[in-house]
This record gives sequence, structure tokens and C-alpha cells, in this order.
Amino acid sequence: MFSEVEMKHLRRCVELATEALEAGDEPFGSVLVGADGTVLAEDRNRVASGDRTRHPEFELARWAARNMSPGERSAATVFTSGEHCPMCAAAHGWVGLGRIVYVSSSQQLVSWLAELGVPASPVSPLPIRAVVPGLLVEGPVPVLADQVRELHRRFAQSGHPRHSRS
Ligand SMILES: [Zn+2]
Repeated sequence: MFSEVEMKHLRRCVELATEALEAGDEPFGSVLVGADGTVLAEDRNRVASGDRTRHPEFELARWAARNMSPGERSAATVFTSGEHCPMCAAAHGWVGLGRIVYVSSSQQLVSWLAELGVPASPVSPLPIRAVVPGLLVEGPVPVLADQVRELHRRFAQSGHPRHSRS
């Protein structure tokens, strides 16, 4: 269903999420890829700084606004370890980025966190298309989603405070 190159981008998102976890942050990572397949930017969650808006998808949307033309943005794809939260989906929509591919859905995250006993987030876990209708959105990717689930389990057991985002 996804090409080998796309799977490579998705695996990179999981790597970035792992880097976030190992830095004491919540495990989320994202990659922005141009129409020609070039990786343009990548980031991981940075909410452990105390700013709960430091999601990678938000950072990539703002990077795209600064560095890409409207046409380049609409032809780009954002790969991400977890489906965009409403804040990031809105930022993605406002700057006019294109397709999104996520490893795990917000619905999956909600059920995983509930199983782990993590309190619910203050932000409603709306699916991306409830925020940006008409956007091409693909996921989850079952072959990688179990790895993301394991990262959330490790984070929950790490003792770091969760500033839950989905
Ligand atoms: Zn977000």
C-alpha cells in the first residue's frame, strides 16, 4: 500500500519519536517531504520544555510557511508517527500543506493511553478530516503502529509527566 520510500519516511518518524522519548519527551516525530521526494524538514515533540504547543507537526507547518511557496506546500506530504491533533491539523490546513500519512491514529492513541491509565487530554481527539475536510489523509500503518504503541507504554512507565496532546 505504501512504497518502500514512503515506508522509510514512516520509519524515520518512529525513530524521531524514539529520540523524543529518550530525551524525556512524549514520543512523536514527523517528516516533511517535497513533491520530488526530498526530505525538507523533520522534528520531534518538544513539550518537555514546558510549552505544550511544541508538536512536530506544528513546527513543520510553520517551517513550510517560511520556506515554501503555496504550490510547493500543497504538493508536499507530511509523514508522522501519530495523527495530527486539532491544533496541528489546523496549522497544516492554514498553511495549505498537502497529504498526511500517519502511523497511528488519534483514536488508537486514546485507547492506548486509557489502557495505560493516563488521564484524558484537555483537547478533543478529533480526526484530521474533522478539522480540515477534503485533505488526503492515510493511515494507520499497522506494521509500524505496534512500535508507536510500545513507545507510549515506555513513556507512561518512565515517570515523566505527560502533557497529553491528543
Ligand atoms: Zn499537535
